[in-house]
Amino acid sequence: MSIEVKNLHKQFGSFTALDDISLNFPSGELVALLGPSGCGKTTLLRIIAGLEQADSGSVILDGENASQTHVRERQVGFVFQHYALFKHMTVFDNVAFGLRMKPRKSRPSEKVIAEKVHRLLELVQLDWLADRFPSQLSGGQRQRIALARALAVEPRVLLLDEPFGALDAKVRKELRRWLRKLHDELHITSIFVTHDQEEALEVADRVVLMDHGKVEQVGTPDEVYNHPQTPFVYGFLGSVNLFHGRVDDGHLHVGDDVLHDLGENYGPGSEVYAFARPHELDIVVDTQQVSGLSAKVNRVLSFGLNSRVELDGINSAHGQHFEVELSPQRVHELSLTQGQIVKLVPSKLKLFQRD
Ligand code: ATP
Repeated sequence: MSIEVKNLHKQFGSFTALDDISLNFPSGELVALLGPSGCGKTTLLRIIAGLEQADSGSVILDGENASQTHVRERQVGFVFQHYALFKHMTVFDNVAFGLRMKPRKSRPSEKVIAEKVHRLLELVQLDWLADRFPSQLSGGQRQRIALARALAVEPRVLLLDEPFGALDAKVRKELRRWLRKLHDELHITSIFVTHDQEEALEVADRVVLMDHGKVEQVGTPDEVYNHPQTPFVYGFLGSVNLFHGRVDDGHLHVGDDVLHDLGENYGPGSEVYAFARPHELDIVVDTQQVSGLSAKVNRVLSFGLNSRVELDGINSAHGQHFEVELSPQRVHELSLTQGQIVKLVPSKLKLFQRD
């Protein structure tokens, strides 16, 4: 089922939770709603589900305006962060619950329910836990059961609110892969809320980035990560070095430092934000080098595939910190010492004009 929301607005008292949100979720996609805490992700999900009413705007399901349609008729399945499994029921009964609650006319027989529940438990690879109670399961197992229960009523849309939020990092990672695989089998239009950028980029077909009740960017993981369109998106996805500067004569002036050959077209005197990822900065030890940002080496961290150098800006801005990612070989060549003054030279720089 395709989902479209148009000009959604939601106010909680004087606080604007959603500010004119319009989005399209094509049928069969797995979409992540990503953004910092309080940006409106859950509110948007609840409005799509029909658990919350927008002040204005519409929710269109498969081309039909469903804004007034009751939650039960929208055919959505939910999974929330705090697994709402019924504690006094076995796993089997939890998954069977939605089917047994159907109106008498459309309720399947117990035999059909049993077959279906076992099929779903096989799908989430937990058939062997059918007779256990939720308290006898791990957190990850509970979330998989919650998903099986949501799928039992054959929803046309699956809405997941921080489904793995309460789990530890390792289990989260496993479940992410597992969710992706499950989605590839079922192709149910699914929207999941997360504030974890890695989770969104790893799992989703498309990512919707939100901040302060607004959509900042929509795109594939590659598009939003490699081609961020706003300073917020740049800063939110991955580590980044951010500094302020002024473009003059095609050069970027950062405090007393100058970066040459920007290749960017800005008017004279344009105030800009400049962004560079840690791997887009190199270090040169020759401080006579004209183009570069002066910085003092603070720490060299060598573990994993790449080494990280932490530096403090000198001329560029007071209190400015930089992080540079280099190959161990490059770090070896440079043989940096703590307190050494160096220059940072960006291989790539993204500029955004300041308002
Ligand atoms: P989180 O990641 O922390 O769950 P979120 O992006 O999902 O955040 P929402 O739960 O959508 O954010 O909330 C958006 C804003 O609206 C928050 O500032 C929240 O405090 C506020 N809010 C949400 N529900 C209500 C409510 N029922 N009454 C008043 N304010 C609310």
